[in-house]
Amino acid sequence: MEPILDRNSARSVLRAKAWGAARKQTEALLSNSSSAGEPARLATEAEQLAQRALASVAPRAIEDPNAIGWPVPACKAGCHYCCFEQVNVTPPEVFALVDHMEVNWPAGKRRSFHRKLRAAAEKSRDLDHDGYFAARIPCPLLDPQGRCSAYEVRPLMCRAYNSLDVKACEEAAKNAHKSAYERGVRTNGTIHGIMDGVFGGLQEALRKAGLQDFLPNLTVALNQALERPDLRSQWLAGKRVFR
Ligand code: SF4
Repeated sequence: MEPILDRNSARSVLRAKAWGAARKQTEALLSNSSSAGEPARLATEAEQLAQRALASVAPRAIEDPNAIGWPVPACKAGCHYCCFEQVNVTPPEVFALVDHMEVNWPAGKRRSFHRKLRAAAEKSRDLDHDGYFAARIPCPLLDPQGRCSAYEVRPLMCRAYNSLDVKACEEAAKNAHKSAYERGVRTNGTIHGIMDGVFGGLQEALRKAGLQDFLPNLTVALNQALERPDLRSQWLAGKRVFR
């Protein structure tokens, strides 16, 4: 039987649960010498934790948020209005993307992606969140059909973002010069809160271990990680290698 929770309580319970679980799991992985060298695992395990946190409190929410009275996101494959936002990430999420490309993409695809990524990183290097959205720089990971080409390992903040109304997203794109607050797209805050909790727990554990934990711009960070294969070991050694 599902606990009866109003939306605000569910949001804070789930966020706290996801935060604690992600922090604990990350601490365990970091203290295990055989897995500490695999930073990408920290990101994929944290994501699974988020799904488990959601399933344990409200099992039906995953298949049908409407069944328990939660607002249902309007997001569909190929809709990518939000993929023009600046994406905050942690280093393990960046390494998870690098590993995904190495394993699943042929060398030619990796080379042409890197050219596109480098150009986007150059354009976006000095932009803040609102400036990035206003500059209309599509995420380099978007494929020609407007889908995420690394959907399985997309960052936590991409999983957090959702919208209850596609028209609001269309309007936001037309008003890209306005601040995020003024654009005001309504979301399912519970889904957002869970992913945000996982992000917070992951970050907290990394910070406590003396590791760089927050990168404001996915495009810039991913470009750096692809250009410098030594970055991963330097990051694990506690150096602030990402700009
Ligand atoms: S990583 Fe994927 S989901 Fe996130 S902004 Fe880029 S294309 Fe969109």
